[in-house]
Amino acid sequence: MLIDSHCHLDFFPPYDLPAILTQAREAGIGGMVTIGTRLANAATQIALAAAHPPVWASIGSHPHNVADETRFTTADIIALANHPKIVGIGESGLDYHYQTAPRETQALMFRRHIEAARETRLPLIIHTRDADEDTAAILHSEAGQGGFPFLLHCFSSGPALAHAAIRLGGYISFSGILTFPKSHELRALAAELPIDRLLVETDSPYLAPVPHRGKPCQPAYVARTAAILAEARGLTPEAIAAQTTENFHRLFTKATPCG
Ligand SMILES: [Zn+2]
Ligand SMILES: [Zn+2]
Repeated sequence: MLIDSHCHLDFFPPYDLPAILTQAREAGIGGMVTIGTRLANAATQIALAAAHPPVWASIGSHPHNVADETRFTTADIIALANHPKIVGIGESGLDYHYQTAPRETQALMFRRHIEAARETRLPLIIHTRDADEDTAAILHSEAGQGGFPFLLHCFSSGPALAHAAIRLGGYISFSGILTFPKSHELRALAAELPIDRLLVETDSPYLAPVPHRGKPCQPAYVARTAAILAEARGLTPEAIAAQTTENFHRLFTKATPCG
């Protein structure tokens, strides 16, 4: 059994969801987390998770959206996370690639999400792109004020950030990017990081893995990323499935089986 630790079910047309969930089940996906990108849409995330047993959800403000969401305080984030099927905080972090919000606003909201993760003990799902140094600096300064569980999702940054995260007790999640022909360095990194800190995800509907490039991604495809991770580690797909599922549950302690 595999878990898709990061997907966006609210980005699919609702009439497609039954087929997507059926295909995931048939591919051996035992659970998935639909990830929040706007705190204003938290009710949508909660409704999706409540309606579908294999779905858990997170709530958070993606760095693309933070400019509209600074009215949400740390206390608001904590209150929204109270629902039994909300198992994580995020996605939150820094994105200097698109930089649709000022860097200071991204950092402010990133720190609020970190505080919420520290307070609730729910894992923080971190999105970071072209911002390795500032992400590491914020993680270090915040960790100094008290630990919090976290993962770096859709990992595509450099080894220095991966190792810094591991040293702080964090987890690393790989998406379909791991399967791309050009991702040699990422596969080399995936081969050497501690095996008990690795997760897999789709980030669907984005980033379909090889050989599904060009199609909308869906949670069933996490099996492809897991297969490439297994190859990089010299393990069987079954062993990687068991290990990443165990890692998921160690981090996402609120994600009880089938909600
Ligand atoms: Zn992301
Ligand atoms: Zn995402």
